[in-house]
Amino acid sequence: MSFASLNLIPELLRAVEDQGYTEPSPIQAKAIPPILERRDIMGCAQTGTGKTAGFTLPLLQLLAPNASSSPSPARHPVRALVLTPTRELAAQVEEAVRAYGKYLPLRTAVVYGGIDIKPQIKALHAGVEIVVATPGRLLDHLQQKSINLSRVEILVLDEADRMLDMGFMPDIKRILAVLPPTRQNLLFSATFSDEIKRLADQFMHSPTMIEVARRNAPAELVSHLVYEVPAVRKHALLAHLVRSRDMQQVLVFVRMKRDANRLARLLEQDGLAATAIHSDRTQGERMQALEEFKQGKMKLLVATDIAARGLDIDQLPFVINYELPHTPEDYVHRIGRTGRAGTPGEAISLVCPDEMEYLASIEKLLKRQIPRATAPGFEREDRDQRRTGAHEQPREHRGRDAGRPPREREHREKPHAPRAPAAPAAVTGHGHFDFSKPYEPAVKDTTAPAPEHTPAAHRRKLTRPTAALLGPRPKPEE
Ligand code: AMP
Repeated sequence: MSFASLNLIPELLRAVEDQGYTEPSPIQAKAIPPILERRDIMGCAQTGTGKTAGFTLPLLQLLAPNASSSPSPARHPVRALVLTPTRELAAQVEEAVRAYGKYLPLRTAVVYGGIDIKPQIKALHAGVEIVVATPGRLLDHLQQKSINLSRVEILVLDEADRMLDMGFMPDIKRILAVLPPTRQNLLFSATFSDEIKRLADQFMHSPTMIEVARRNAPAELVSHLVYEVPAVRKHALLAHLVRSRDMQQVLVFVRMKRDANRLARLLEQDGLAATAIHSDRTQGERMQALEEFKQGKMKLLVATDIAARGLDIDQLPFVINYELPHTPEDYVHRIGRTGRAGTPGEAISLVCPDEMEYLASIEKLLKRQIPRATAPGFEREDRDQRRTGAHEQPREHRGRDAGRPPREREHREKPHAPRAPAAPAAVTGHGHFDFSKPYEPAVKDTTAPAPEHTPAAHRRKLTRPTAALLGPRPKPEE
């Protein structure tokens, strides 16, 4: 099977060739023909399957015949709308649209919250055929009348299940209400829950169902490993694993955004280059963190589930679950960040006794037991330690030794005079990081958004209780 056999136009074939793709992925082979026939489709596919090109290529082809090279904005109405749950995914989809559409005179714009709305308004006023948007900011544009969706021919809901999880249903309904009733609808979702089916029933017309296995099924390319470790030793074990295995690029998952910041800070204090990505960070900060991680400037990227959705990081070798997610599906999403594009990946989970039930439900979903590993010095918290708190490292053991097993530390430290305590903020007298204290950045945050950059969702909260773009529902991340 080749891209040419899918009847793609030469401009798209050239763009695909430039990307270095030799053959369509299964979702592309299945989705492109019915989309070109202008059918509605429901695609069950996760990130990593090539679904973006699966809908972007035929979408561009359908719009191409009426593409205009006229500079007049009136000749460039919005004809395709792609909705995504997160800013990162919106940015990635727009990048894909630009890459695949580079030989076509079609214009594209991306619209999401957390950044100044004015340049977006300017871009929309200039006229664009394809708009990639997160729902909240798109509604702001509709309210301000900076976008006209009356000529939309194709609607794409990307990662629809995530949008629903994040509480975007009311926003999606508002957007559907302003679209022309006759249009093509494409919906992509990693799962087809009853809620997704209900949503589809509301606006799709006898959709073609397309289902593909993950391009890299977790079972094939990702090896799973569990370290059973007391909660208080997790950070030290994480640092130890990174050092002892010389890990160069690790995506670390925590459940709550405040812990993402704190863990990143803690790792930095230990001398490991780490940064955090979560929904409270400005768009600029998130993009910068991601870029630094991709370029290898940061070894560790600490992320929450929401912030990591849709992240496309080529050849990410390690995902470490610092905390297990509370739903096994999120585990599958998390580990889907590694083992991509045919390269093997490793998913390591640090599991404390309180999390054993989550581990059990993950193993049930995977239909197998995850192998257990032990790291000398981190196996378990013995009773005496628990009573006296002796397991917590003394302050002078913090800094670059925090990740080393106790014995190795002792061996290294004996000949030396004790070092001065690092005494970082929010570290308790026992040297154990205190997650209950407010996080205070060491450096003043000069990139905080100016008032006019205030995320749209936060402003909207005042007027309507719909999903917020940056912190949609407090549950998963708060
Ligand atoms: P997606 O699932 O759309 O996020 O795509 C995952 C990754 O696969 C992206 O990095 C794409 O650039 C890449 N990709 C998409 N289609 C192909 C293909 N036909 N051959 C090789 N790589 C692809």
